[in-house]
Amino acid sequence: MKTEERRTAICPRCGKAYRGRPALSRTDNKTYICPDCGTREALESIGVDEKEQEEILATIHSHTEHQDI
Ligand SMILES: [Zn+2]
Repeated sequence: MKTEERRTAICPRCGKAYRGRPALSRTDNKTYICPDCGTREALESIGVDEKEQEEILATIHSHTEHQDI
C-alpha cells in the first residue's frame, strides 16, 4: 500500500477546507475541487438536481464517516 500525501486545501467551488485527493473540475478541466464538489459536478452532468445531489452526498458520507478525511 502506498502512502498518499495528505494536505489541506481549500475548495474554490464551495470554499471548504478538505484533505485527501482533489477532483478535477469538469467545468474547466484545470481547477481542483474537493471530492464532494467532484461528485456534485458528476451528478449534475447526468441531470441530478441540487437537492438530490445533497441527499446522495449525505448517503456517501454516512458510509465513509469512519474514515479520516
Ligand atoms: Zn467543494
